[in-house]
Amino acid sequence: MAASGKLASFRLPPLPTVGELIKLYNLRAEKQLSQNFLLDLKLTDKIVRQAGSLRDAHVCEVGPGPGGLTRSIVNAGAADVLVVEKDTRFIPGLKLLSEAAPGRLRIIHGDILTYRMDRGFPETISKPWEGDPPNLHIIGNLPFSVSTPLIIKWLENIANRTGPFIYGRTRLTLTFQKEVAERLTASTGSKQRSRLSIMAQYLCTVRNCFTIPGRAFVPKPEVDVGVVHFTPLVQPQIQQPFKLVEKVVRNIFQFRRKHCHKGVEKLFPEACRVELTQEMMQKADVDPTLRPTDLTIPQFRALADAYAHFCTHEPSLLSYEFREELRLKHLARQRNKPMDTFMDK
Ligand code: SAM
Repeated sequence: MAASGKLASFRLPPLPTVGELIKLYNLRAEKQLSQNFLLDLKLTDKIVRQAGSLRDAHVCEVGPGPGGLTRSIVNAGAADVLVVEKDTRFIPGLKLLSEAAPGRLRIIHGDILTYRMDRGFPETISKPWEGDPPNLHIIGNLPFSVSTPLIIKWLENIANRTGPFIYGRTRLTLTFQKEVAERLTASTGSKQRSRLSIMAQYLCTVRNCFTIPGRAFVPKPEVDVGVVHFTPLVQPQIQQPFKLVEKVVRNIFQFRRKHCHKGVEKLFPEACRVELTQEMMQKADVDPTLRPTDLTIPQFRALADAYAHFCTHEPSLLSYEFREELRLKHLARQRNKPMDTFMDK
């Protein structure tokens, strides 16, 4: 795991191409696992360049598959590459790569959704949160079904400085379905502005780097792919617990075409809804007739702060869920019983 300046000039010795490896090990892409491979090393080099300099870096690559992106990471001078791959079939090919880059490639056969990255790297690489980011990167071309839940989990980790962020402001370079990449980076007023835009941008500087046409993958997916780079902010733009911010943002965006007070109302039980919504909008100094897509992050901050203020005075508000109230009402109506029969006592 030694990091030496000499490694930056290291290039892998001649190896079978990624395409040849796929044939050699009969690595047919599994449709159920949404496997789409990148065989063009110019393209994988371009993805890796978005991460910035990888000289002597520690890298966690998620879903290396046949190892195209892995080769580019190694060639970019990373000193310690930890790959986490779920599908056993790729392990022999990755071992071949590891033998060609002695001491620089560690292979974990596991699931990135449960893998403890906080145990994967030495503590000595940590940097204070307020300082420069550590020389640790997360890079991956994952199936879309994994990359979206994963980024939400990692955003929560950023807010709490847990998981891969115990080392500091670890940077991420990841692929998403093009529409999701656009949502992650959408600015105020744009059509793609959504819950993901706010959740990502209040915690990180987010950059939509470039789009890869679907035809560049084997097999070709139905959609194009966006490469997105995240750098956690020193100071999150909203200083409330992640779950509270998530609740406010989710409620507001559930009626994305309506005035924003419609979603804010649903933060409160029916009995006090109108009164508290009015008070919250006034306290946050936000025009209730703005659409959710037109709200800026400082306006979301003001709304989250106002909601947190109510929750401090009435802690039970925090666990109130409008949809749960609806469900219980529906149940009560069906069974012709009072609603509190179904509530947790
Ligand atoms: N990185 C390779 C490339 O660019 O050619 C493969 C990309 S393919 C879209 C996604 C890879 O992620 C596959 O190798 C798949 O087996 C792996 N994968 C899927 N779900 C995973 C998970 N939960 N944890 C780790 N790897 C996963």
